[in-house]
Amino acid sequence: MFENLSDRLTDVFNRLGSKGRLTESDVDAGLREVRLALLEADVNFKVVKDFVARVREQAIGEEVTKSLTPGQQVIKIVHDELVHLLGDANVPINESKNREQPTIVMLVGLQGAGKTTMAAKLALYMRKKGKTPLLVAADIYRPAAIKQLETLGKQLNIPVYSEGTEVAPPDIAEHALRQARINGNNFVIVDTAGRLQIDERLMTELQQVVERIGPTEIMLVVDAMIGQESVKVAEAFHAKVPLTGLIMTKIDGDARGGAALSMREVTGVPIKFLGTGEKTDAIEPFHPDRLAQRILGMGDVMTLIERAEQVYDKDEAKKMQKKMRKGTFDFEDFLGAMNSMRKLGPIQQILGMIPGLGKQMRQMKELDEALDDREMKRIEAIIQSMTIKERRNPDLLKDPSRKRRISVGSGTRIEDVNALVKQFREMQRMMKRFSKGGQNPRDLMRMF
Ligand code: GDP
Repeated sequence: MFENLSDRLTDVFNRLGSKGRLTESDVDAGLREVRLALLEADVNFKVVKDFVARVREQAIGEEVTKSLTPGQQVIKIVHDELVHLLGDANVPINESKNREQPTIVMLVGLQGAGKTTMAAKLALYMRKKGKTPLLVAADIYRPAAIKQLETLGKQLNIPVYSEGTEVAPPDIAEHALRQARINGNNFVIVDTAGRLQIDERLMTELQQVVERIGPTEIMLVVDAMIGQESVKVAEAFHAKVPLTGLIMTKIDGDARGGAALSMREVTGVPIKFLGTGEKTDAIEPFHPDRLAQRILGMGDVMTLIERAEQVYDKDEAKKMQKKMRKGTFDFEDFLGAMNSMRKLGPIQQILGMIPGLGKQMRQMKELDEALDDREMKRIEAIIQSMTIKERRNPDLLKDPSRKRRISVGSGTRIEDVNALVKQFREMQRMMKRFSKGGQNPRDLMRMF
């Protein structure tokens, strides 16, 4: 989502960084470009104006730190201000202080923002943290919403409380709470109705729900794709219900990201989570510093590690590492690694989190090929057509008759099988080299 902004800022900083000394006019020229880049990313005009003024004041008045070049110093100031703009630090979800009382999270927002999906994501996320969630279907105006939540609940094995479409939402919410106490659910997530636009009736109803159940947390779910409009939506909701958090969804889309950069500043309400895809595990707690680093092309290793920890089994990973080092990594391991990679998320997102691989990576031809899902499926089909022995001992594949059999079995050309075997050998060699250190981004890419 932030690729364009990230690329533009990286260019500005590269130019600044190449100068030994920065004059006031160098800084101004750089900041003009920063300003344009932010406006183009659809950041609110006033937010941009204040941001640039704050950076300028510091960049010009700043004592030069010995350890940094002037260019680096400007980058540091922009980074720090960006973190500040995004809310300084991660604000965790409010939880009920009373152990007898469940935490009650109410999700509000316009229709299509991703509330129902987020309710399920949040339930799954909190269950992983040891909570026992209950989902509450209080969106009675869109019968499909109740069904959708029930289906998600069933998939995740998380209970869903619903009373159909005839009972008023404040009553549903109250009954659900009673149910949660009886069943020992300590984390209640209420999915409320959304409309296409903000309207008085909806707001009144939300206020009634708030009064009735006294939520611990009221979070507004906003679709990042609606751009500038999202700021207006947030202000309108906040004027009627006391929001305690914001959630931006669809940040995996191609919107320009300005909304995320403006919302906190304009409303003063912290962003608490991001929705990064359609699947129920596509949720990230929001960390201002991590997003700032991603925007400035510095990667986001912390988020990558957290995701990997959820996907990989530690013992399995250790075994894999050992095999890589010894060069005994075989086709079965390869298949396993491919599946784990998929679970980590879209490869573009992953690469954006590796420091220094941002722009350079996206422009590589090999990446486009590797990203092609058909290519992945073809590789999978070839490996699946190998016998277990062949997978464990790739040397057997020197035999042409085996390769012919595999090509027929997988419905691929013999050239495809040859190419895979060759690439695999190259990868084994590269892994050995990696384990001795001296990574080069291009090699890493080829390994992908
Ligand atoms: P609601 O009307 O606010 O409850 O919205 P839904 O939860 O029904 O979501 C609307 C659409 O957006 C659905 O098609 C979801 O799959 C999709 N969606 C929700 N969150 C995300 C996200 O983070 N990324 C993407 N790409 N799609 C999302």
